[in-house]
Amino acid sequence: MIKERLYGKTLNELIAVTKRIKLPGFAARQLADWLYKKEITTIDEMTNLSKKMREILSVDYEIGLSAPLKVSESKDGTKKYLYSVIGSKFIETAYIPDDDRATICVSSQAGCKMGCIFCMTGKQGFQGNLSSNEILNQFRSLPEFSKLTNMVFMGMGEPLDNITELLKCLEILTSEWGYAWSPTRITFSTVGLKNSIKEFLEKSRCHLAVSLHSPFDEERRTLMPIQRTNTVKDILDIIKEFDFNSQRRVSFEYILFKGLNDTPAHIKELARILNGIKCRINIIRFHRIPGSEFFSPGMEETIRFKEALNAKGILTTVRASRGEDIQAACGLLSTIEQNKSSQ
Ligand code: SF4
Repeated sequence: MIKERLYGKTLNELIAVTKRIKLPGFAARQLADWLYKKEITTIDEMTNLSKKMREILSVDYEIGLSAPLKVSESKDGTKKYLYSVIGSKFIETAYIPDDDRATICVSSQAGCKMGCIFCMTGKQGFQGNLSSNEILNQFRSLPEFSKLTNMVFMGMGEPLDNITELLKCLEILTSEWGYAWSPTRITFSTVGLKNSIKEFLEKSRCHLAVSLHSPFDEERRTLMPIQRTNTVKDILDIIKEFDFNSQRRVSFEYILFKGLNDTPAHIKELARILNGIKCRINIIRFHRIPGSEFFSPGMEETIRFKEALNAKGILTTVRASRGEDIQAACGLLSTIEQNKSSQ
């Protein structure tokens, strides 16, 4: 019999569990405490629940943690972990240490529906939404779990396409009964799904990163099919309704492609559309994927692009490239694994 997983349930869901199996009401808080504040892996370790209660709980439930299958380690300290989810699908999780920060980059879906043409995960197609258990397991089962200071939802999948599970994860991460993390330690990256972006901004205080990659409608459509129904204008109109002057930040991710989106016309248009929004642009160097027609410009051209935007009053940074030697492009490692297992 497949048991239901307790890890990844919100306090309200744990209350429903205790009601269902007729445990006393206070047991839900005790469960949350064992699941999210103490590093237990079995129900038997919940020693402030009576033996009888643990036996009742174990009939239909388990904690539900699973270790990564393998790891690749870069010479710069970045690690890429491979987890198995939804049957025999694979997802990737990155661990990125950087001075006094240690960031985990988690996946929210197996594969992705969005089909961005420069992305290996997009080429896998969509294989399923991850549950809150599968999303948070990447965090809790990471060998470096206790070192983590920040979390970014920039791994495989479009997080806002799985918003119900994602909001549950945020509740667990930021509630006092959960991990009690500040929402400012968490960043969501999205291609910009206009309906979900609004819900996300209303219901959480986490940072937002929008994948922009071109300020021009036609060009963005060719790079990111989502632009056909969710335009940059739609997204910017929503962002302008919210306050990003306090602790919450909005940034725009911009993968620079040589000879495509790195021209003076792009700089001018970016400055025009972002005028009046307190934000930053993060330039990302393109991690080439097999068969790709795109190339990254050299570092000198990248810095010139960044400085031109800064001169226009748009705070712009170049994100350090990490894990170049371990299939840094998102989706590459899991694609290799999938190909192996289907042979
Ligand atoms: S870039 Fe993100 S949204 Fe686009 S296909 Fe890849 S995983 Fe999906």
